[in-house]
Amino acid sequence: MKIAVVGAGWNGAHCALELVTAGHQVVLLDKHPDIFQGVSGDFGIRLHKGPHYPRSRNTRESCLEVFDRFRETYPELVVTHDSAIYAQGTRDALGNRSKVSNDAFAHVCHESPECREVDLSSSAFAGLESAFDLDEPSVVLGDRLRSYFRERLAVAGVQIHSGFCVEKIVRKANQSLVYRDDGSVLAFDLVINTTGFQSLLPAHFERDFPFDVEVVYQPCLALCYQDRQPSEKLFSFIVMDGWFPCLMPAITSQGSFPANYILTHGSYTIMGSFPTVAQADSLLEGLTDEFVAAKVKAFAEAEMCRFWPEFSRRFHYTGWKGSVMAKLKTRSEFRSAVTFENEGVIYVFPGKISNVFNAADEVLALIANRSSIEKNGFRYAAQGVLDIAHCEMTQKPEFGEQNTCNLQTYTQLGGRKQASQPQTVEATCH
Ligand SMILES: Cc1cc2nc3c(=O)[nH]c(=O)nc-3n(C[C@H](O)[C@H](O)[C@H](O)COP(=O)(O)OP(=O)(O)OC[C@H]3O[C@@H](n4cnc5c(N)ncnc54)[C@H](O)[C@@H]3O)c2cc1C
Repeated sequence: MKIAVVGAGWNGAHCALELVTAGHQVVLLDKHPDIFQGVSGDFGIRLHKGPHYPRSRNTRESCLEVFDRFRETYPELVVTHDSAIYAQGTRDALGNRSKVSNDAFAHVCHESPECREVDLSSSAFAGLESAFDLDEPSVVLGDRLRSYFRERLAVAGVQIHSGFCVEKIVRKANQSLVYRDDGSVLAFDLVINTTGFQSLLPAHFERDFPFDVEVVYQPCLALCYQDRQPSEKLFSFIVMDGWFPCLMPAITSQGSFPANYILTHGSYTIMGSFPTVAQADSLLEGLTDEFVAAKVKAFAEAEMCRFWPEFSRRFHYTGWKGSVMAKLKTRSEFRSAVTFENEGVIYVFPGKISNVFNAADEVLALIANRSSIEKNGFRYAAQGVLDIAHCEMTQKPEFGEQNTCNLQTYTQLGGRKQASQPQTVEATCH
């Protein structure tokens, strides 16, 4: 088949490679001037082993299931750590206890067999109930990731059209017509939408989808730091489960010890939760360096120092970056990729980057028409993520419940109220 993959992030690039291997002719389209300029270029940070999702068994299982496959397929992109610490905080930023019990947290950490308990009495950490060191690596970002995929896609024979903003897709006489924003049209047998569930979406997705799901769009920030004592001993430090901080390396180039780290927080770095991409984009575009430094940075740093006082001496703030991320609103914080077909287009709703394998497997199963399920005009793979996890995906938090998908941090930190935005979800071609 002649297939267009729209969106050249982790999902699009990996799917394009798998489709070529399966014998298809693939064109990868992206609106940006280069590949991996969306969320994937800045944020696919850890190759998750699961404990970041202690309340979502489906997410942990799908991460673990493909962990080795990811490392074997992309060894050049996976960087081993000296330590990757998952800690159970005593109280979160709001004074609440962790959302999981100590036993449950220990149990999910031990799902990784190499997991080792950290002796807190001889550590530099504070305010923790327990901590576990896992063999959880980082995945490279930025230019190093882009140049790897440029070469790998070219060698595989995937044609890349960057600067190509798809405005609409029309299904006509067994062909998918892809309209570019300059009015030109290309014809394909099939289109895969890997736009991070941000563009060209089914017209009435939440109304017609066979399960009662809700999508939120969140402007997410990462605060960037330079390590004043860079060493080959790469580490990450993640406190769980609630409004707690995370510190992770950001490896964007080859060579010397990684000196760049990213600080995020369970609430302070997620600016808001919106029903449309346009509203989330608008908040991100309006954010100022002054606001981030005075509010977000101040709170997130104070929280990190509460658990690791040495942070402020060792790390130097260099700025911030942000991206809009689509999430399914679930009580358990489910974060696996979800794949389905509707009206001749296959969609990948993003999860963790390791889930590119689950998604591509399901895309191939849908193309081959192998044991799929059809409901309300949506088709998905039997025993795929949607089939297995739809019960968890439909359990939503209550209004106002402490859940990342209810966050309105920007407003709560005193940001100016947003102007109202159109409610339609359209391709944005600027
Ligand atoms: C703060 C933060 C931390 C994270 N940490 C981790 C982590 O540690 N580990 C992990 O596994 N995951 C992590 N994630 C999630 C992970 O980064 C994403 O799930 C993943 O990168 C999504 O990839 P994608 O290919 O689906 O989307 P994207 O990378 O966003 O790619 C979509 C592409 O579609 C293009 N596009 C959109 N509309 C159009 C159009 N109309 N025409 C043409 N092109 C279009 C965009 O330009 C973009 O390049 C994190 C996310 C955030 C926000």
